[in-house]
Amino acid sequence: MKAVRMIEVGQPLQLQEVPVPAIGDGDILVRVRAAGICHSDVHYRAGRSPVKPLPMTLGHEVAGVVEQAGRLVTSIRVGERVCLHYNITCGECYYCSTGNEQFCGNVLMLGHYTNGGYAEYIAVPARNAIVLPDEIPFEQGATLMCASATAFHSLRKSRLKAGEAAAIFGVGGLGISAIQLARAFGALDVFAVDINQEKLQLAAHYGAIPIDAGRVAPAAEIRKLTGGKGADVAIELIGLPQTMRQAVQCLGALGRAVIAGISDRPLEIDTYRELLGNEVEIIGSNDHLFQELPVLLELARRKVFDTSRVVSRVVPLDADAINQALDELEQFASGVRTVIVP
Ligand SMILES: [Zn+2]
Ligand SMILES: [Zn+2]
Repeated sequence: MKAVRMIEVGQPLQLQEVPVPAIGDGDILVRVRAAGICHSDVHYRAGRSPVKPLPMTLGHEVAGVVEQAGRLVTSIRVGERVCLHYNITCGECYYCSTGNEQFCGNVLMLGHYTNGGYAEYIAVPARNAIVLPDEIPFEQGATLMCASATAFHSLRKSRLKAGEAAAIFGVGGLGISAIQLARAFGALDVFAVDINQEKLQLAAHYGAIPIDAGRVAPAAEIRKLTGGKGADVAIELIGLPQTMRQAVQCLGALGRAVIAGISDRPLEIDTYRELLGNEVEIIGSNDHLFQELPVLLELARRKVFDTSRVVSRVVPLDADAINQALDELEQFASGVRTVIVP
């Protein structure tokens, strides 16, 4: 089969002819129908987040059709449409057995530590597959497995309740999901902070109140728009110390800021005025849980959550096209979400 693979750090991915993976008794073989190209893949190709072993087929946002099922597989049938949870965990360690499998020490992430979806076929344990409802196209199912799932997990971590006000920092793939999901959680006002006019317009289309951080100070603006009270929840999806700080500063008493944007730089806050004085919480959010994915898919199936505008471009399983999409992401040249359709 064809697979587009990372051979060497910092080099373009290459198309290789490799054997169709063999499956074990508990595994399924999935014919890939869609694989999302994610910003993380840019970091992998550049070597900022080590991929091992090389060569490796990238791609952790995968949807397809079950082609073969192992002898012991009962949960899923050949011919079913599925999308894949990208973390293959051991199921037995302390974190797995307490429902927090994103901390499993033996995790094999698809397209990072084990071959992913930039290929015609992929083999995974059957327990990593979730049935993809007919109403959701493969391309959308694939992207739901990463950005939207991470946004959903962040909102669950925030404990957002009906009637509260939420501020979403960053209107990218995660932000568009977070805005809609915050409304599904019952937020009355959802503020969307960004500096890109197109993104702010899209945020408004999904019912958010756009805050142009290039024009106003977001924390003060949110405070003003909430009658001085501040937001109950802020979700930071950008990964800059400045926007993390704004996420904390826009909160009212008992507010919760969830940090999901990745940065290796420190966050400085005024510990009295911005944290303990208001009993504010700063919460980290990492990845998502398998158990969250069926709920997310059901929200998408019921159109509580519109994913139709997430995917903006489709490319074939072609190394040049994929490298070009990665180059564009590397340069932040576009907010375009590209999906490979082999
Ligand atoms: Zn991703
Ligand atoms: Zn484990």
